[in-house]
Amino acid sequence: MRKKIVAGNWKMNLNYEEGVSLFSEIVNMAKDEVVGNQEVIVCTPFIHLSTVAKLSENVKNVNIGSQNIHQAESGAYTGEVSASQVKSVGVEYVILGHSERRAYFGETDALLAEKTNAALKHDLKPIFCIGETKEERESGKFFDIIKTQLVDGVFHLGKEEFAKVVLAYEPVWAIGTGLTASPEQAQEVHAFIRETIANQYDAETAENTTILYGGSCNPSNAPTLFSQKDIDGGLIGGASLKSRDFLEIVKVFN
Ligand code: 13P
Repeated sequence: MRKKIVAGNWKMNLNYEEGVSLFSEIVNMAKDEVVGNQEVIVCTPFIHLSTVAKLSENVKNVNIGSQNIHQAESGAYTGEVSASQVKSVGVEYVILGHSERRAYFGETDALLAEKTNAALKHDLKPIFCIGETKEERESGKFFDIIKTQLVDGVFHLGKEEFAKVVLAYEPVWAIGTGLTASPEQAQEVHAFIRETIANQYDAETAENTTILYGGSCNPSNAPTLFSQKDIDGGLIGGASLKSRDFLEIVKVFN
């Protein structure tokens, strides 16, 4: 059975103290309110990683992710952070291919393939994001766009390496806009992604891949979205900044 996951992406929000305080609330609630077998991943800015990784050490099913890494091993890349550095503070996951990084920082599929390799080399599991813009949806070409993102970003991996990747379908038009994809729209794309994985690898690999939905997910719409056959959880932006909302979403799987 594939893993159910609820991941929070704090993006560039919260100073050090605010982040530690929010994370402590999440951990305390997760302990008190009996979170089941679903995995909770909190992806913070770099400044919080080492502290929250320590705070999560003995908490079952709560793991930490970073929101980016540089593709190189080390060296003269002022301002960047490598996979091994992130790993060295106890981080398990890294978000790659987020549409904000693609759009604002020019990250291409080719670069993302390199970052994916760097992550896996250091035992960081990628949460690899794919998704179409509003224009791409309206033009009807979104299946092609999503397939290309998969082929160029992660399908170079062998089956064993691919098995460590979590995918996140995040339609760009639904991110931070309050416009959620309908459960049917999301399910349609998730099923397409799973079928594409089956064609590339095999049916078992497709069946075992966790595919998250992201884009204006909240405690009200999460239950219907997560009940779709091919939706295995969410990548949560705005609602992950409120401990109560985030935990409500986590508990959809209880
Ligand atoms: P929102 O939940 O704020 O729409 O953000 C989604 C997202 O981009 C998560 O990575």
